[in-house]
Order: sequence, then structure tokens, then C-alpha cells
Amino acid sequence: MNLILLGAPGAGKGTQSKLLQEKLHIPQISTGDMLRAAKQAKTPLGIQAETFMNAGKLVPDEVVIGLIRERLAAADTQQGFILDGFPRTVAQAEALGTLLKELGRSLNAVVNLEVPEAELIARLTGRRNCSNCGAGYHLQFSPPRQDSVCDRCGGPLIQREDDREHTIRKRLKIYQEQTAPLVAYYEKSGLLKSSLGTGPTDEVFNSLVVIVEGR
Ligand code: AMP
Repeated sequence: MNLILLGAPGAGKGTQSKLLQEKLHIPQISTGDMLRAAKQAKTPLGIQAETFMNAGKLVPDEVVIGLIRERLAAADTQQGFILDGFPRTVAQAEALGTLLKELGRSLNAVVNLEVPEAELIARLTGRRNCSNCGAGYHLQFSPPRQDSVCDRCGGPLIQREDDREHTIRKRLKIYQEQTAPLVAYYEKSGLLKSSLGTGPTDEVFNSLVVIVEGR
């Protein structure tokens, strides 16, 4: 099963695609995670991407397309994949189409997770992660037992540089301008399905499973 999860920043793509990965036994491919890892490791790619990411801007198309080209060549994607955060522009969607054709593969579905903007902002501003083990928290919806300390490993919790309110607004604007047109793009090809991304995580997940399994 070859899937794309579309949705604004904070729509729950990361959370839901990790759950889908476990259920479907196919890898989640998050360009955001790949870029953050490169940034942390201070690779040339990470250094190049850092300025764009910290400013809430998109990393240039050719950079992320190169990452996806390399990732889809790996054996673990042969049975399928869940793309999370890619494509984000029409140019990326076109490049993905060409790449999949070259690989003799095709998409099964593109699911758009819909969440109202006020909720996206509340979700993103409260998001925290453990800088040690990566565990995710939310100050309001799933706070740690002790302020700023990870329940799992005791590591310090940090806020993503691009989750500050000013940058969030910029990311949402860029989403509207550059990524939202993908909804119409995939609608035209008959692949688009929409799912409400609000409510408890397990309910959103159950609806997603029904959609991707075509039940
Ligand atoms: P995410 O974790 O998906 O919200 O991505 C975090 C940041 O990484 C974004 O704000 C962009 O700066 C960059 N990024 C991730 N995926 C892409 C993509 N497909 N195209 C361009 N930039 C991306």
C-alpha cells in the first residue's frame, strides 16, 4: 500500500502515520524527521536546510525530492510506504509521480487530514518533545507528570524552533499557498480521500484505517 498523508502542520500526520506504520507494517517516511536528523547531525544537507526550517519556510524542492528519491530506493519500501510531509508543493507531487513511474509503482490513496486553523495553532504552540528520547507531549492535552521533564527517560523537554507562534503563522500561510493546492491536484486524479483530524487520536486512527482499507 503506497499512501500519502496530507494536512496542515499540526493536523496529526506524524502521529497517525506512525500508528499506520505499526498496523500496516510499511515505513512512515517523514521529510521533516529526515531534515531534523540531518540538521542535528550538522551534515551539509542539514546545514543547508536549517535556515529554511527555523524560519518556517519550505526547504527547496530539489533537496527534498533528492531525499525521497534515495529513500524510495531502499528495500523496506518495496511493500509500501506512508509519506508524511511530502509532497508539499505541486512540483514535488509531479516529481513523485515521475519517480514512482520509473520505479513501476503507483499511489493507492492520498488522505487529507482536516483540522480547523484555531485548533492547529493550539496544538502546535503546546507541542513539546524530549530532547533525549524524542517522546512527544502537549502542555494542555498530554502534559508530562513533572514540568519540562520527560516521563520516560527524565530528559529535558524542548519546543521545536519552528513551533513558536510567529513561525507557526508563517508555516500555516505557506501551507495555504503552496501545499493546499495538492488537495485539488490529487482530487483530479481520483486518489483523494478526506478524513476529519479532530477528536481522540484512536478515533481519528480508526476512521483512517477504514478509509485506507477501503471498507
Ligand atoms: P514537518 O515536520 O513536516 O512539519 O517539517 C518541518 C519543516 O521541514 C518544514 O517547515 C520545512 O521547513 C521542512 N520540510 C519538511 N518536509 C518538506 C517538504 N516536503 N518540502 C519542503 N520543506 C519541507
